[in-house]
Amino acid sequence: MLEQDICGGGPSGRNGGFASGWWDELDGLVKLYGTEGAVKGAREISKSISGIEEFCSRHRVDAWFRRAGYIFAATGPRHELVCEEMVHAATQAGAPDEMQALTREQVRERCSSPAFRSGAFMRDGASVQPAFLARGLRRVVLERGVTIHEGTTVTRLDGGPTAVTESGSVRAKHAVLAINAWATAWPRIGRRVAAWSSYIVLTEPAPEKLEEIGWTGGELISDLRQSLRYFRTTRDGRIAFGGGGGRAAPRVGDTFTHDRQAVRQAAEGFRLFFPRWSEVPIVDGWGGPIDVSPTHLPAFGTLPPGNVHFALGYTGNGVAPSHLAGRVLADLASETDSDLVHLPMVNPKPRLFPPEPLRSMGAAAVRRAIISFDTAEERGEHPNPLASAVAHMPRWLGYLLGP
Ligand SMILES: Cc1cc2nc3c(=O)[nH]c(=O)nc-3n(C[C@H](O)[C@H](O)[C@H](O)COP(=O)(O)OP(=O)(O)OC[C@H]3O[C@@H](n4cnc5c(N)ncnc54)[C@H](O)[C@@H]3O)c2cc1C
Repeated sequence: MLEQDICGGGPSGRNGGFASGWWDELDGLVKLYGTEGAVKGAREISKSISGIEEFCSRHRVDAWFRRAGYIFAATGPRHELVCEEMVHAATQAGAPDEMQALTREQVRERCSSPAFRSGAFMRDGASVQPAFLARGLRRVVLERGVTIHEGTTVTRLDGGPTAVTESGSVRAKHAVLAINAWATAWPRIGRRVAAWSSYIVLTEPAPEKLEEIGWTGGELISDLRQSLRYFRTTRDGRIAFGGGGGRAAPRVGDTFTHDRQAVRQAAEGFRLFFPRWSEVPIVDGWGGPIDVSPTHLPAFGTLPPGNVHFALGYTGNGVAPSHLAGRVLADLASETDSDLVHLPMVNPKPRLFPPEPLRSMGAAAVRRAIISFDTAEERGEHPNPLASAVAHMPRWLGYLLGP
């Protein structure tokens, strides 16, 4: 295993810890793969959430796994309709138990915020402490005899395949590329993703304040903006609050980890939703890259001639899907003809973004427009017509992104 940083130095070690299902993604899944394929995929993600739980208990990895479900809390009238549509889609797909409608009172009973309207509850949702999970994985992989070279950047893959680094090369029968948004710099897969940043802030522990707002059940919560805000509690009584801002860039660089404006945007979202926490300090903030795909969903597969495999395009939702990716990639790399390698998200027709510089320019413009559109909608204002047009552009171009 060759890792340019330390294991978990990428988003797997510093995400929001939402191990969540795909029942909220049915709309896109059905468009891409039909109802049967969509439900199959969503059921595999459910198995992966259980798989993470089993892994943690079998290997004594205390990654704070807690299964408490996922609340989608509408903060604007259009978002209430989106919740209704998600509930309807699950029922239509024959999975009515997976997504339930919540009234405004039911949402606020579970977590009281003046911003919340009605919502939806997805039972498929668990929280983890991502760094403990990533470091636990590293320990187990080492115990199984795998050699890990941290601080080792792969500069290219030659035929063979041979992974070339500055200090040496490794040749193997098969190679797996699991490089998230860094894929934007790789010629054969770069156009499958665009790199956007996401940032999180973390409060001091304040368990008594969680009691006060009734958020003691451990549910994951997000709003329904396109520039999603996602938030959760931690075992030690904090709130971790992410999203609402960030930006796109052609390559992963400093803007993905040192963007004060994005930290401020996450903090503003937190203060807006939780005014009763106004006295509780925010003590940390961090960010990382997300690999946005044209479909909002990841794809797994094999590149010609058949010995390099990849998983990418999680679009900020990769904790449970990367577990599924691991199961799929293991079968692809060991040439096992399992049900998993026949899932419709394995080797789907490639969906590509335009070549550079259009890809990153377009991604940056759309990201800004989406944030402006979301903010106007949230304030009950009419979105600027230009921002609205740009925010809707991806859908007009056939991508499953944007409002
Ligand atoms: C702030 C933030 C919050 C998020 N919150 C959530 C969440 O709550 N729930 C959720 O489901 N998803 C979330 N995500 C997304 C999720 O973290 C990712 O989708 C998931 O971790 C992807 O896993 P991965 O293994 O593909 O990528 P990574 O964890 O990024 O691993 C890829 C690794 O490849 C290494 N690498 C890259 N290029 C090279 C190279 N050339 N040579 C060697 N090594 C290389 C990187 O250093 C990195 O460690 C979040 C992301 C961010 C940034």
